[in-house]
Amino acid sequence: MATLTIAQASCADDYDPNSMSVDKARAFIHQFLSPIEGTLRVPVRSALGRVLAEDVLSPVDVPAHRNSAMDGWALRGADLEGGEATLAEIGASFAGKPFAGRVAAGQCVRIMTGGVVPEGADTVVMQERAQATGKSITFAPGQKTGQNVREAGEDLRAGSVALERGRIMRPAELGLIASLGVGEVPVLRPLRVAFFSTGDELKSIGTQLGEGEIYDSNRYTLYGMLQRLGCEALDMGVVRDDPHSLERAFAEAAGIADVVITSGGVSVGEADFVKAMLDKLGEVVFWKIAMKPGRPLAYGKIGGAHFFGLPGNPVSVMVTFYQFVRDALLVLAGASPVEPMPTFKAVCTGRLRKAPGRTEFQRGVLSRAADGALTVKPTGEQGSGILKSMSDANCFIVLPEAAGNVEPGATVEVQPLEGIV
Ligand code: AMP
Ligand code: MG
Repeated sequence: MATLTIAQASCADDYDPNSMSVDKARAFIHQFLSPIEGTLRVPVRSALGRVLAEDVLSPVDVPAHRNSAMDGWALRGADLEGGEATLAEIGASFAGKPFAGRVAAGQCVRIMTGGVVPEGADTVVMQERAQATGKSITFAPGQKTGQNVREAGEDLRAGSVALERGRIMRPAELGLIASLGVGEVPVLRPLRVAFFSTGDELKSIGTQLGEGEIYDSNRYTLYGMLQRLGCEALDMGVVRDDPHSLERAFAEAAGIADVVITSGGVSVGEADFVKAMLDKLGEVVFWKIAMKPGRPLAYGKIGGAHFFGLPGNPVSVMVTFYQFVRDALLVLAGASPVEPMPTFKAVCTGRLRKAPGRTEFQRGVLSRAADGALTVKPTGEQGSGILKSMSDANCFIVLPEAAGNVEPGATVEVQPLEGIV
């Protein structure tokens, strides 16, 4: 738990609210995050996407029995020490149908991958290295005692940690848990995130637009991003730019959620009024981040809830969510370790305009060229209100603070928007 208050931390020497670097803002926020509590036990399938609340210990050895890694014959390694040898096949051990007897000197047992290695045997020779004539099996020289045998408990000993708390349950984790014979999983309750849009110009879909009005899209992108992260998304609608409505909305949201996210109302001109109100309700800092899009950003606490005030522009909402909110929500939800979204290098096929002094998150389409090189093509108009540039993209092109214009053929850093799982 952080000892500093947000107000104290924001007075640190290197802190400039009018020009916060992306990394510094991220680090600032992380000082104040600690995971929620509240564990429930759910059936394995329902744990998908949830965060493991406790270590899961393996109740069994994995594999449970000493078994074969190959199709072949199980035998005593000592019988092959003299080079080529012919042994008598006395039975078979198939997966799920073990051989009941014991293998003595001069004997072998036909075995399939996963079959229990019978007593007496310590080695498996793969079938490609053997010649069968009826029940007489001749083995090629050069075999090693112990080869192709998987020991019981080799993957996981009974009582050892199979999965650490904090793991996000993906398909692999569901399968791993099932492989242990465990039917229920302790998971943390989902993080509750309330969100609303602010702006007198905003209308919800299903209503008629008046002069100068626009449909609220931010609540839909936010819903999608929150849902994808496994949060409980509480949509509180559109709130007018009016002090009483806003104050009521903030108080209500903070009362029902772990995190409150708003869009709009933090840009110059609107911030002062929101700031005055939030000073009353909690402790919030307002920044101008040295980034594009997504310059204005607010973070703080309202009562017990964390607050993220995102800019209003639709692309800015998504960029600031991915760059600041995503990791923070994962930490609050109890996930660990939380790794920043990975970046890697690709060749940019277009020209990018970029002024030094701010980190830019342009949108691009990453693909593999015929020669095997990873290339990224910008998605056209990069205005912060143009959601199509985000929809057409499969990655951010991350241009660092110091960088200037990018010429075609230059190598840039990209950050994929989707992972494989
Ligand atoms: P603001 O940060 O409130 O000044 O908004 C910046 C721009 O984003 C303005 O053009 C707003 O109309 C637009 N905007 C704000 N909120 C939304 C929203 N929920 N959906 C779509 N556009 C929005
Ligand atoms: Mg506004």
